[in-house]
Amino acid sequence: MHTDTPLPPHSWPELEPGWVWLCGAGPGDPGLLTLHAVNALRQADVVIYDALVQKNILAWAPQAEHIYAGKRGGKPSAKQRDISLRLVGLAQAGKRVLRLKGGDPFVFGRGGEEAQTLVQHGVPIRIIPGISAGIGGLAYAGIPVTHRDVNQSVTFVTGHDQSGNTPGALDWSSISKGSQVIVIYMGMKHIAQIAQHLVDAGRSLHEPVAVVTTATTDNQQVLETTLGAVVADIAKAGLEPPAIICVGRSVMMRQVLDWQGMANGAAPRNLDPLGRGRPADAG
Ligand code: SAH
Repeated sequence: MHTDTPLPPHSWPELEPGWVWLCGAGPGDPGLLTLHAVNALRQADVVIYDALVQKNILAWAPQAEHIYAGKRGGKPSAKQRDISLRLVGLAQAGKRVLRLKGGDPFVFGRGGEEAQTLVQHGVPIRIIPGISAGIGGLAYAGIPVTHRDVNQSVTFVTGHDQSGNTPGALDWSSISKGSQVIVIYMGMKHIAQIAQHLVDAGRSLHEPVAVVTTATTDNQQVLETTLGAVVADIAKAGLEPPAIICVGRSVMMRQVLDWQGMANGAAPRNLDPLGRGRPADAG
């Protein structure tokens, strides 16, 4: 999209000097940005973006200064405070500030903390949601995050906390029992412990698992494996973060819904992967 292509008619909000808009950029594919995000990119004086934001998105804000605020892999939180205070400083200097974060700003993105700091300093904010990797990334892999035959709930969980360890506060046993489908963010580093926790809690070694890396980008890779084999298979495939790990039978739906594979000429592997034996939409 050219930067001079008008947005569809709507009462688009104005990004005013001294404001900060915290905005989700989606999981990667620029087409997954919202129109509010595009509206913001066109007005910003400064765009402060994260490591997970695709750089080509910044080309939609050619008038703005682009500041990288990358921070990967559970590093200490002191830097987070620096980022928040930098946003405060830019706003107080009268800039139109766009804080662009991967996925959705309020999903494992520290967006809540940044927003709170801004409000505590009297800086007016707007929040622009984005498509989170745990939903949109799985959709690009052909995995529905809920599917009526599989799950009535889904749990989104982070694989490590601020200290970089597996979150001690998480009750993996309850998560395992309570949720047929578990979507793990930031899970690569501790996948061995996480898989063990889930097996200890009673999940089968044969339970389907998908690992989707750099989802929705040109480099997207999808590994289909099982809870018992996930650690070895990640190593074998040489997969690197960022990755979404999905545990549950909805992963099997990829056998019929791998739309990217089908667009490239592959046949669906199994038209009825869950073995319902009747049309998909029959009661
Ligand atoms: N706010 C983001 C999540 C930030 S936490 C969101 O809503 O998506 C960072 C984690 O998100 C990564 O470690 C990874 O687990 C996941 N993630 C973000 N973008 C991803 C992508 N394109 N592909 C796979 N995982 C991604």
